[in-house]
Amino acid sequence: MQCTAIVTMLLLLSLPAATLAANGPRNGEPTMSHQNEDIQYRWNLADIYPNTKAWKAALDEVQSSMDRLDACKGCLGKDASSLKSCLDTYFGIMKQLRRVSSYASMLSDENTRDPKALEMRQTASMLGTRFAQRTSYLRPEILAMGEARIHRFLADEAGLDQYRHFLEDILRAKPHTLGAEAESVMATAGLMADAPSSTYSILANAEIPWPTVTLSDGQEVRLDQAGYSRWRATANRADRKKVFDAFWDTWHHYERTCGVTLYSQLKRDLFYTQSRKYPSCMAAALDGDNIPVAVYRALIQETNANLGTLHRYFKLRARMLGIKQLRYYDIYPPLVKADIEFPIDSGEQLVLDALKPLGKEYVATVRRGFEHRWMDAFPRPGKRSGAYSSGSVYDVHPYVLMNYNGDYESVSTMAHEWGHTMHSYLANAAQPYPTADYSIFVAEVASTFNEALLLDHVLETATNDTERLYYLGSALEGLRGTFFRQAMFAEFELKIHELVERGEALSGQRFSEIYGDLLRRYHGDAQGIVKIDDAYTVEWAFIPHFYYDFYVYQYATSIAASSLFAQEVLDGEPGARERFLGVLTAGGSRYPYELLKDAGVDLATPAPYEALVKRMNTIMDEIEAILDRRNGRK
Ligand SMILES: [Zn+2]
Repeated sequence: MQCTAIVTMLLLLSLPAATLAANGPRNGEPTMSHQNEDIQYRWNLADIYPNTKAWKAALDEVQSSMDRLDACKGCLGKDASSLKSCLDTYFGIMKQLRRVSSYASMLSDENTRDPKALEMRQTASMLGTRFAQRTSYLRPEILAMGEARIHRFLADEAGLDQYRHFLEDILRAKPHTLGAEAESVMATAGLMADAPSSTYSILANAEIPWPTVTLSDGQEVRLDQAGYSRWRATANRADRKKVFDAFWDTWHHYERTCGVTLYSQLKRDLFYTQSRKYPSCMAAALDGDNIPVAVYRALIQETNANLGTLHRYFKLRARMLGIKQLRYYDIYPPLVKADIEFPIDSGEQLVLDALKPLGKEYVATVRRGFEHRWMDAFPRPGKRSGAYSSGSVYDVHPYVLMNYNGDYESVSTMAHEWGHTMHSYLANAAQPYPTADYSIFVAEVASTFNEALLLDHVLETATNDTERLYYLGSALEGLRGTFFRQAMFAEFELKIHELVERGEALSGQRFSEIYGDLLRRYHGDAQGIVKIDDAYTVEWAFIPHFYYDFYVYQYATSIAASSLFAQEVLDGEPGARERFLGVLTAGGSRYPYELLKDAGVDLATPAPYEALVKRMNTIMDEIEAILDRRNGRK
């Protein structure tokens, strides 16, 4: 089951937006702190349960209803009505379970220091594990029924129609399902499967001793992951170099250990790939959502064909920062500084105005969400950091968690999260529960589309060139981070899996060589565009996503898809808006690649990638026009 919250959190971790969001609230601003306490900007969890007593009652009910699941064991294939009644039970309990656990986790996110909320969250999570254990017979039993019988049941019982996609998806796994004894071994092997990622996670998050450096103004800063994200963007070049040198030198000490954990992860992937008879690790990973490998290949091919656009961006960056030879530590500082403040009311209004091309109903729903407390807007002590949208409470409405701090990145994050929110809202309204949940492959299309609309809107309403440059620069940096950087990660991930498939042993040093080659190619090192020092090629060790099994490519494909949709909608192409909204409304009723393809965006072809590259070039044309105008050139 996909979780928008997780998608969003991951995206924010990998983007510069996270850095800004992680900087926390700006203190001492009277309007902000006043709003901060305003109940209007707290989400209203009472829409789910009036109080924790009602939550407890719901939890108990889920628990006792689980007994009904045992009665289904061995009976699914009896006849069509038995199958229907068992699936009704299964999805009915799952829906209530997600309501119970969403409430508990959002309550705990309101104040992560509240032990009672944490306990509720853990209780719900344990119940989720028990549900998974008690329904583990479901898939094998359905698979054993066979295609002919399932299709006969589907023809006989109209009530099974809402489960058609679910059933057919289980049947699809047939060629990769083993005999009972082998499946039991596979399940037991799962006990070891998370060892590489858990070891890496402990090392990266808890055990690496982070360095401290003294900046040119005498300030001493600790370079843990958050500190690095913040200080790598500092305006002082010598400080940036110092931050890079200290941070990557620390990682360098763990190059060998990280090499072992990553290599172990690759061998783990190879074990599942070979056991389940897939042609490659990439094919195995993409099969989960039924994504053709041609999508992954198209992404890599089109990205490489368009590296010239990325290089143009770096040259423009060098010009704007006034640096002759750009180095890797020069890629993070913002191109333009602008102190533009957006109190929450004007931020919300900006988002509503920007979303107008999506139609009156879409905008009216977002407004209703703003007015009826679907969002927890401001940072507070103890509140979870970052931003997410959760559409898991099917019968109520989606919720948004933000740490709004009044800058433009906050407004952009708000547009992004409400993209996820409206996706959930439309899918939940149009689909029965079993097909409402959408896949990660389409999730970021909905959110990044809204960012594109916001950019278009702020450029139209900006009152001066400094403001315009700021928005354009921020959009460019977003495209670099969400498209090119993620595509580079995707290429690295593919390359290292292919080497292991060919039987090559990989060490930390070898990972650095492979990653360094990619870094240099993407950044135009040979052409003298961005010089990459050897000391920084250990960056692969810093990226947790390499333990997520071909995950990051979806950021790049999503923003390519949304670029094509946005271009068509903003150009007023007839039917474009309806096609886009159709994708959102379809939820999880179809496979995501086909869903997008039938809506006119085929991610296995060059068109969406070309739209993204065109968007990036248009932005750079506009920046250069402003710079030339400022320099008095015609
Ligand atoms: Zn997102």
